Parts: sequence; C-alpha cells; structure tokens
Amino acid sequence: MNRKKTYCFTAIVGQEDMKTALILNVINPGLGGVLIRGEKGTAKSTAVRALAELLPLRRQVKGCRFGCDPDDAAHLCDECRARLERGEILEAEEQPMRVIDLPVSATEDRVVGTLDIEHAIKTGEKKFETGILAGANRNILYVDEVNLLDDHVVDVLLDSAAMGVNTVEREGVSYSHPAAFILVGTMNPEEGDLRPQLIDRFGLSVTVAGEHEVERRVEVLENRLKYENDPEAFFQEYEPKQAELRARISEACARLPKVTYSRAVMELIAKICIQLEVDGHRADIVMLKTAVTLAAYHGKDQVEKEEILQAARLALPHRMRRRPFEDAQFDFSRIEELLRE
Ligand SMILES: [Zn+2]
Repeated sequence: MNRKKTYCFTAIVGQEDMKTALILNVINPGLGGVLIRGEKGTAKSTAVRALAELLPLRRQVKGCRFGCDPDDAAHLCDECRARLERGEILEAEEQPMRVIDLPVSATEDRVVGTLDIEHAIKTGEKKFETGILAGANRNILYVDEVNLLDDHVVDVLLDSAAMGVNTVEREGVSYSHPAAFILVGTMNPEEGDLRPQLIDRFGLSVTVAGEHEVERRVEVLENRLKYENDPEAFFQEYEPKQAELRARISEACARLPKVTYSRAVMELIAKICIQLEVDGHRADIVMLKTAVTLAAYHGKDQVEKEEILQAARLALPHRMRRRPFEDAQFDFSRIEELLRE
C-alpha cells in the first residue's frame, strides 16, 4: 500500500460540515458525492486530498483496468466478463480506495478515453485506451474548480454519474465500461456558478468559510507550521488520531446495512422538504440516506432527530427552489420546530 501523504485530515481545524460530508460519502458511496463551496484558502482541496489516507481497503479483480468488484457480477467490465466466460476464475486483491484527480483543463478524450478505430476496422477487435473515468470507477473523482469545467466534460460527467457507466462512441463503434464514482467538487463561488443540472447531481453540499476566532486561527497556523517544518514528525503526531478515524469509518461501513428508521422519520423528512420548498423528490431520498449514514457514523442502529437535523443541513441547501445557497443560514428554526412537535 503506497499512499502519498499530503496532510492529515484530522489536523484540519474546524470545518466540521465539510469533513463530515466527505466521511459520509466514504461510508456510503451511494450518497452522490459532495460539492464544497468556499473562498480561497479554506482547506477545501487539502481536505479532499487528505481524505485519501483514510480510505478503506476494498476487494477488486486483480489485473482489471477498471477495478471491478469481484462480488458484483452485474457490473463487471467486458474484459472481466469475457474472462469468466472462458472459464477463468477472477482473482481478487485488496486495494485502498483512491482519490482520482480530474484537472479542470482535461479534454473530453482524456476524461472518457479513446477508441482506436483503425485497429477496430483492421482486426475487428476493440482497442480502448482508458481515460480518467476508468480509474475513477469505485473511487472518488475529484474536480477542483468544478465550476470552470468545460461544458462537454460536464455532460460526460452527468451521463456517467447517472448510469455508472462510461460509453465512448466513434464511427459506429462503441465501448462501455463501469464508471461508478463518488463525485467531489470544490469551487470558489466568486469565480462563477455551476450549471443547475450539475449542482443537482451532488448528493450533499457544504459552504466553508475561514475561521474568524483568534484561537482557531492560531491553531490553523500552528498546525501548518508544524507540517512545513517537519512533515514526518507531524504525520507521526497525528497517526493515532488518523488510525482512530479509520477504525471509526470501517465500523460505520459494517453498521450501515443494519441501520433502521421508522415511518415517523420518513414523514418528518417529507415535512421538512415541503416546508423548505425543495424541488422534486430526490432531496427526500438523499436526506434519508444521509441520516442513515450519519446514524452508522454515530454508532447507532436507528435514525434519531439529531441525524435528521444534520442531514437537512448537508442535503438541502443546494436544492432550495428559491435562491439556492444564498440563504447560507437557511431557516433552521423551522426544521427545529418540526422536530420538536
Ligand atoms: Zn473488470
């Protein structure tokens, strides 16, 4: 296991919503990723890159370019399926989940991969050169400055995110492979907005701001200096905390399928979504999944009010029909009232 250390996730001061949203997506890849908005220098990218060190091991098919899940026969790539059909046994290995970068300057070809048409015509065989989406399968796909992405690339991301499959077509020849990724985007809202379709794709959203308390700012400064002066000592100092969080994440992963919720919880979520005038039903679903994942993270077997309130804060701000985001302080008193009833 060779992971390049960047910074320690547990050394990031404050920014609890951002850290929680990232961790929840690791515990439950079905949440739909997270959009992190905030001014420059608020540790957004640092947090995403530092997350890599906390990612759990997972089983994948040895030698597969797409990291197929050997226990999920329905979503194997063509190559793995062909091997099975030839009677081969797919050998599994354990590898940590990864954070895959999608640079904002990447061309569409670089993202989706390329199909060698000449080779296909000459030999009748498909020859596919993988792109970024191949590596992103079952991993985190990270786009910094996601609001500056080229429109074509955004379309490709929307398609793959919806289907969990990347399809490349050229001159009547097409190639598909699994591309189910956790989309994490960071952006500075001062540099332009995101297309509404893409905003909607993110399961969760958080807005981060710089610390305004002296003590906190000093802590940020101290941690940064410790890291710059002696990275090895810094990593060593934080290792116990890192190990503790890693263990907590893996316990939550194991607990997740066992978490239950009552009908009252569903009704409460529906009421909150009606009150806050969110669009469509996706919000209700994401909110419920988030509350369940939070319960697992909190070590509980049942969703309680605390999880519903926190889930609303993470899953709803970008789904409000009126002025998404602008109400950064959106009306929690109304949600709290509903929860008290
Ligand atoms: Zn495969």
